[in-house]
Amino acid sequence: MNILQTVYNCSPVWWQNIMCTVAGRKRVKQRYDKDFNKRRAFFRDIGMWPYQKIRAYQLDKLKEMAKHAYENVSYYKSSFDRAGFKPEEVNEFEDWKRIPIITKDDIRAAGKSLIASNYSRKKIISTCTAGTSGIPLTSYHTHESLADVYACFWEYHRPGVEPEDRYATFHGLNLVPARQKAGPYWRINKAMNQRLYSIFHMSEKTIGDYIADLDAYKPAYLAGYSFSLYLLAKLTEESSIVPKWSPKAVFTTSEQLLDVYRDTIERVFRTKVWDAYSQDEICGSISEYECGYYHYDHAYGYMEFDDIETRGDRRIGDIICTGFLNKSWPLLRYKIGDLVEYEPVDTCPGCGRAGPIIHKIHGRLADALVLPSGKYYPYICKILRKMENIREVQLVQKQVDKVIIKYVPTEQFCTAKGERTILEAFENAIDEPIDWSLEKVDEIQKSRSGKNKLVINEIENRPPDLSNQNHP
Ligand SMILES: [Zn+2]
Repeated sequence: MNILQTVYNCSPVWWQNIMCTVAGRKRVKQRYDKDFNKRRAFFRDIGMWPYQKIRAYQLDKLKEMAKHAYENVSYYKSSFDRAGFKPEEVNEFEDWKRIPIITKDDIRAAGKSLIASNYSRKKIISTCTAGTSGIPLTSYHTHESLADVYACFWEYHRPGVEPEDRYATFHGLNLVPARQKAGPYWRINKAMNQRLYSIFHMSEKTIGDYIADLDAYKPAYLAGYSFSLYLLAKLTEESSIVPKWSPKAVFTTSEQLLDVYRDTIERVFRTKVWDAYSQDEICGSISEYECGYYHYDHAYGYMEFDDIETRGDRRIGDIICTGFLNKSWPLLRYKIGDLVEYEPVDTCPGCGRAGPIIHKIHGRLADALVLPSGKYYPYICKILRKMENIREVQLVQKQVDKVIIKYVPTEQFCTAKGERTILEAFENAIDEPIDWSLEKVDEIQKSRSGKNKLVINEIENRPPDLSNQNHP
């Protein structure tokens, strides 16, 4: 735990609200520069370009990215040379496929050799996020790339609302300390007109407090992790509570939105759910549109789909992204590990945007522990964020109070110290009487779809609708 988090946890609620507002002010400065409206207008315009014009734009961007990566990024200089590939050989989209795929493991191993040498290290901002396996991945970007990302975000991911609107979020931030047993279960960021609700304190006992506060606050929209927003709606419905207000929209992200999640949220909050997909690596973005389909955002990056199955007109493909917005840390042909179900059409018959049509995004499903208090703890990857020298982790929940932490160490792992760190991290994050035990293993078994499964629940009272873990 870093010092700032420790100070935050020990502070009174009013001071925590000030700290949230100060952090919010910093984010506003990072995300919205003086050219925000100009950037946004560009993305609005390009979003409606016809297929051929988009394709020509994308091919030009790919040529530019290949040249830039080869000339300025040592990782790509070696990778292209090994593959016998020259950037000037990109003339058609087919040529692009000669560039070797990069994976999360490659990115971790490459470290800073993926940062472009023509960018000052002082201007590079790093963020550490937990990948789909829960193991951290450091991403690099600049203020400019972030400003572009947020202009895109507002243009494509937030239909019907504006940046100044009052909103409520349900993300995996540790805003309300785990030891806090009574409300308020939210904090306030005045700089962004945002109320941040703790997803770790939601339960049958606390749901009434959450909805009473939302009724009083009346946010224009809710945004957050798909599973958390579903849980909010599900607990509300199960407690026979009817929210007194209705938001303009609910925006889900970060996890696969199952149909049951969408239906429950829309029913309980009497509004429309808009789903979106992107990642901290700033490579690819997919948005849901008024036509009822998803499209990938062509100005954000180029997306290829590596088909693994065909079902009639539809195909299931592995997403491979090349981002256009972040040249300081370019990722070319990045295989993220998520799948889409799509139809390869040039133009969407519903909205006229360039294709393909994407029907479903099969990303990661939230893996939750069920705690002795009856609460769900869905974001194990938040705990794993700071762990070093561990390749993979999987939790096996035998009973509500008994969890085995299986881990695969790297060669640098020091067993005595490392195991103590793992145990302390879990005990500090989840303040409940759980018997944690460790098991060092050589590998973690993957699910049928080849994805990592972070939590195996072997208890009878499993989290709702998480039994449907099978990807196509
Ligand atoms: Zn469409």
